[in-house]
Amino acid sequence: MEKSKVLVVGGTGYLGKRLVKASLAEGHETYILNRTEIGVDIDKVQMLLSFKEQGAHLVSGSFTDHQSLVKAIKLVDVVICTISGVHIRSHQILLQLKLIDAIKEAGNVKRFLPSEFGTDPARMENALEPGRVTFDDKMIVRKAIEDAQIPFTYISANCFAGYFLGGLCQPGKILPSRDSAVLLGDGNKKAIYVEEDDIAMYTIKTIDDPRTLNKTVYLRPPKNILSQREVVEIWENLIGKELQKSSIPKEEFLASLKGQEYAQQVGLIHYYHVCYEGCLANFEIGNDAVEASELYPEIKYTTVEEYMKRYL
Ligand code: NDP
Repeated sequence: MEKSKVLVVGGTGYLGKRLVKASLAEGHETYILNRTEIGVDIDKVQMLLSFKEQGAHLVSGSFTDHQSLVKAIKLVDVVICTISGVHIRSHQILLQLKLIDAIKEAGNVKRFLPSEFGTDPARMENALEPGRVTFDDKMIVRKAIEDAQIPFTYISANCFAGYFLGGLCQPGKILPSRDSAVLLGDGNKKAIYVEEDDIAMYTIKTIDDPRTLNKTVYLRPPKNILSQREVVEIWENLIGKELQKSSIPKEEFLASLKGQEYAQQVGLIHYYHVCYEGCLANFEIGNDAVEASELYPEIKYTTVEEYMKRYL
């Protein structure tokens, strides 16, 4: 079977650049939206040029120019969007509605993967304010996709390793301390951690796979389903030292949001649902979804222990 041609929108982003790499590595003809707004952002331009050198095609376009999006989309079979969705960096999830309008007009797309890559928003209808905005916006995008009958795959990637493992699951931290750690509650709720290049590789594997068509794909590498305590323990074993541990009860954690900036509050609520409620791992995958490590056992994913070695 011929491999689909792929357009990555958001290709210079934290996840997007990994998707471009994975798409090229898997032999897909890969296009990247080269947004006119990038202007003189030298890092982005240099990254795009290096992708071009590796065989990617740069397609000029803008979210403010509908026809440019239509033109770019017509070049490919599959569109993957990795537009920003982390408030402390940038949150542009609803801009995807413009992309969906362009996909509708182009009429040729065999699969669209919207910018999801986190907690399954469909399971977060009871999420707390203000963090729920991420899930609400992602659901608005899903509705637009499904109303337009665009074939889709939703990737529920769980926790990016860099954010969660780096900081031993403590919000506001992305480097592990060698002295202490604050546990969220009892630290025993399971979460799921996935290395970002692995997320990209699993994602690319799904795009031509009939088993993932119009499905949610959960990324649940079995060895990486661990509680915060277990993550801390892995780190302690690696450094050969026990950390001083304290704990922050749920009520105190929620009270600490008061007075913080909106973007911080959004992020903290995500940690709340993951670490106090265990929202990522406290359910069985239903019949309408599939699990990536089962579908693609050939991918040798990075375990939490391997990942943590990077910080030694
Ligand atoms: P980034 O913040 O790295 O941004 C990605 C891209 O978004 C940018 O490179 C840029 O594309 C595009 N973008 C930003 N602002 C605009 C704008 N105003 N107009 C058009 N395009 C814009 O995103 P992430 O990689 O951090 O996030 C991608 C997805 O992953 C999101 O859905 C997010 O929610 C999710 N995520 C999940 C995490 C988890 O732990 N599960 C953690 C982090 C993110 P360009 O290349 O064209 O400049």
